[in-house]
Amino acid sequence: MTIITRSLLGLALGVALVSLSSNSLEAQAAADVQKAVDAAYAKYKGLQEGKNADYIPALAKVDPNLFGIAVVTPDGKVYTAGDVKTEVSIQSISKVFTMAQVIQEQGLDAIEKRIGVDATGARFNSIIAVEGVKVVAGTGAPEMNALVNPGAISATSMVTGGSADAVWAKIIGFHNAAAGRELTVLQDVYKSESDSNQRNQAIGALMLAYGYIKDNWQQAVDLYTRQCSIGVNAKDLAMMAATLAFGGKNPVTNKQVMDADKVPGVLAVMATAGLYDDSGKWLYATGLPAKSGVGGGIIAVSPGKFGIAVISPPLDKAGNSVKAQKAIADISNALGGNPYAPKPK
Ligand code: GLN
Repeated sequence: MTIITRSLLGLALGVALVSLSSNSLEAQAAADVQKAVDAAYAKYKGLQEGKNADYIPALAKVDPNLFGIAVVTPDGKVYTAGDVKTEVSIQSISKVFTMAQVIQEQGLDAIEKRIGVDATGARFNSIIAVEGVKVVAGTGAPEMNALVNPGAISATSMVTGGSADAVWAKIIGFHNAAAGRELTVLQDVYKSESDSNQRNQAIGALMLAYGYIKDNWQQAVDLYTRQCSIGVNAKDLAMMAATLAFGGKNPVTNKQVMDADKVPGVLAVMATAGLYDDSGKWLYATGLPAKSGVGGGIIAVSPGKFGIAVISPPLDKAGNSVKAQKAIADISNALGGNPYAPKPK
């Protein structure tokens, strides 16, 4: 054997060893993720706490035992437990993606100036929060945010387009791109909420009266109601969270859904107000930007590490899924997901 062949052989062996060890490392990491997901599922499956939302009649009819967990890692692998196929309405989680759409098209400033990025400290559909809104000295920008109803309806009103259909195409298009598949509206939820959303109509009208919505508040409330009725399963939601976790790029389709440099602004608003008036407690416990919906879903983002989603319809008093909060906190803690935690040496 010549020296060259021998050293080539050695090189090949070395490469094989390195790839073997990195594969087994990956396999180990994969086993850890699945283990954490399975453990949380087993621990909380039987928990009977909270109650389905019923102020939208269709939500009261959803099976309260539905429970699904999905985690997506940077390689696009999806780890699941429970029912990750049944769809529920996305509800307020859509607020994140419509806000993101506006940020993508109009820049981070647009949301800060027209809506604000501060927590209101009030319930998600508070009218007093609109009446009592503080404004930034000098600019007059309201101190609201796009993850509670007044700000969310404003964000929907900011999506540009010559007709309601054109605006809707953009909203659903952004959700589809983040999820990596074509989502559809759950018509029964849309109808049920349209028939019972007088409170959101009042908020829309009030936002116009104060000049925060520029025109056609009725269209904004209708499209907002439609976006809240988009059907998603736990896997879809986890993929949407993963798109935010990995710099705005869907890790399976590899589509760059939004510019990477705009994602931190989206995550910051989620951290500030994603779980309504319990956002501080949530952040204190997990460090994760997250968003809940009254359909029972919660998404959470560990930047660069994973996107996670859990669906379980029964909610606590603040309007957040009881099981989803517990399962996400456990899984994230097991995986070292808290971005504020010191990196292991
Ligand atoms: N569509 C719901 C509403 O406007 C969304 C609320 C939520 O998920 N918190 O009341």
